[in-house]
Amino acid sequence: MDEKITLTLPKQKSIALIAHDGKKPELIQWCEDNKEILKAHFLCGTGTTARMISDKTGLPVRGYNSGPLGGDQQIGAKIVEGRIDLVVFFSDPLSAQPHDPDVKALMRIAQVYDIPMAINKASADFMINSSLMNNEYNHDVINFQKNIADRANTL
Ligand code: PGA
Repeated sequence: MDEKITLTLPKQKSIALIAHDGKKPELIQWCEDNKEILKAHFLCGTGTTARMISDKTGLPVRGYNSGPLGGDQQIGAKIVEGRIDLVVFFSDPLSAQPHDPDVKALMRIAQVYDIPMAINKASADFMINSSLMNNEYNHDVINFQKNIADRANTL
């Protein structure tokens, strides 16, 4: 078995949208500014962020639980299941979050699965204007079957 397997992010992507409270207006405005592009993809997000984006832009956004109540973890789990292709997370660097460990866990799991993640407006702008947005993208991720087989054999 190979160390890595090639997975494909599809043309039409599942995009997770998350903003901490101090950054919600900025993310809502970003969604409004990029509505035509976002319309072509599937959108989801943490509870309050998803609701506010839907209400203010009219875009359909599937909502999970609120972030402090486990929404970030739900999004992390969907990444593990291969059901989220891209994350836009406007985190607030200037305020303490009760669910900081969940935020770090989400960032970590996005790294493990090589999922593109924008953490501020500039990175989100670069991401959404990339030609890769509307194309398939192949990436190599750790082969978890092999990882388990190796660990079970050696530990
Ligand atoms: P919220 O969660 O969209 O429910 O506010 C976001 C977060 O704080 O992670």
